[in-house]
Amino acid sequence: MSLLVVGSMAFDSVKTPFGEREGAIGGSATYFSVSASYFTEVRLVAIVGSDFPQSELDFLAERSVDLAGLERSEGETFKWKGEYGFDLNTARTLDTQLNVFQDFRPQVPDAFSESEYVFLANIDPELQASVVEQVKSPRLVACDTMNFWIEGKRDELVKTFGMVDMVVINEGEVRELAGESNVLKASRKIIEMGPSTLVVKQGEYGALLIQEDSVFSAPGLLLEDIYDPTGAGDTFAGGFMGYLSSEEDMSDASLRRAVIFGSVMASFNVESFSYDRLRVLTQTEIETRYRQFSDLASFDRI
Ligand code: AMP
Repeated sequence: MSLLVVGSMAFDSVKTPFGEREGAIGGSATYFSVSASYFTEVRLVAIVGSDFPQSELDFLAERSVDLAGLERSEGETFKWKGEYGFDLNTARTLDTQLNVFQDFRPQVPDAFSESEYVFLANIDPELQASVVEQVKSPRLVACDTMNFWIEGKRDELVKTFGMVDMVVINEGEVRELAGESNVLKASRKIIEMGPSTLVVKQGEYGALLIQEDSVFSAPGLLLEDIYDPTGAGDTFAGGFMGYLSSEEDMSDASLRRAVIFGSVMASFNVESFSYDRLRVLTQTEIETRYRQFSDLASFDRI
């Protein structure tokens, strides 16, 4: 029951039709860790600059996120700037400043090298691969990415996908990477690259769990108040992997529950900027929303 994540920690500047926030705490590994911490302890491998607030690191530590793999460098933290139109499913990247990521070589501490569950959050695919090589015999390695890497480092990304069991990725990215508009055909092309399981995130419409001979479709919750979708994918992945590693059960039923827990966590995250909503979430709220998902998609078999 040990979950390791490598990914970005960031300052995000985000504009949505409902408001904007400059320099909010973000990053794929940050969102993932906070979300997964509701299910299990998390081991974080990432880098921040000297400008990253100590209070945020204290918050993560309080939530049982082990920071032994966090490097603190002299430079500036990674920065991402993006905006959303009324279609909140697709972010438009306006600026990416890698900063301390430029020279980052992730070091998995000895104490983390036997982690059983590994999540390679959105980060340079070469760095993702180097982390897989440092973990001894994981039960499950899952991986995310984004268009920035599909377009900039395609070959390296395909190589990383060849090293993982599962890919958790947006529908648009599945199409772009596979060069195929039909999601099922595109997913099969990605499965041919190596992973046996694909989780396709469909924004507000839900998520698909695709294996060679099966498909499970989870609905999206029809939320009335969505402020900022940033981090929804990473928060989904945190709930998904956090649940799987806490259960130590990789059966089909458990994978399906994990998809719903991922959807539950993402549905909370979009209700505020940064991960403000996740700071104050309770177990009862998580369980109540899980039941809402179950009610939303339940119907009789005839
Ligand atoms: P998502 O879950 O897809 O909305 O992820 C949003 C997060 O990804 C933001 O908090 C960003 O800081 C982070 N991000 C954006 N671009 C990159 C990138 N090229 N590499 C790593 N992380 C990124």
